[in-house]
Amino acid sequence: MNIINTQSTQKRILFFSAHPDDEIAGAGGFIIKTLQQGGAAKLVLCIDPSEPRPDLNANDERNARLKEFSTVADALGASHSFLDFPHYPILSYDTILPCVKEIREFKPDIVLILQEDEYHTEHQLTARIVKRAVWHAGRSAFPEYGQAHKVKEIWESEGDRPMSNPNHFEDITNVIEKKKEILLSYGSQQSRKDLVSAVEGLNAFRGIMYKRGKFAESFKTSNFFYG
Ligand SMILES: [Zn+2]
Repeated sequence: MNIINTQSTQKRILFFSAHPDDEIAGAGGFIIKTLQQGGAAKLVLCIDPSEPRPDLNANDERNARLKEFSTVADALGASHSFLDFPHYPILSYDTILPCVKEIREFKPDIVLILQEDEYHTEHQLTARIVKRAVWHAGRSAFPEYGQAHKVKEIWESEGDRPMSNPNHFEDITNVIEKKKEILLSYGSQQSRKDLVSAVEGLNAFRGIMYKRGKFAESFKTSNFFYG
């Protein structure tokens, strides 16, 4: 009998994003692959996307982007939640503990974020908060936020700044079209900037330059957490 052990590929992955679209742009191909392999994925949006725009007031912008976020999660087949942090969130228990609760409830093998070394300050702040949350989630403290769960790895992905020192690549050649199609669901963002072309170009560079297929996503992974 030929028993295939798929355990190692059936990962549980949890992506914390500052903004709707960070998750697809940075790791959409990996999320799609993980779900196709029988794994589970959850998207957690951290920051309130309200912002006044020339064509929309702040509340309409918030509603439009939250709707796009849930549409994308549904299209992927991922679960999702929204933490509603204010813009430029501060590193404190007020931001760390809601992330600890998400980690302890979902029990991911891998937590994903955009790299701490991004251009956008909110990407940087979210990365710092989530890294602290991964540490606290594994400690025997704050029992009101669930039972301790030790995350195996943090994967940082690239959003608005090409990563200088990736140590892992995912070949996403077979899912690039699906990634682009889902990214287009963020119509409010695509109409302001051609994100699909930017992301496709970066993924092509990674795949071709590092011989990881025609398209690849880059990550910086770490599996050491203090204490
Ligand atoms: Zn962003």
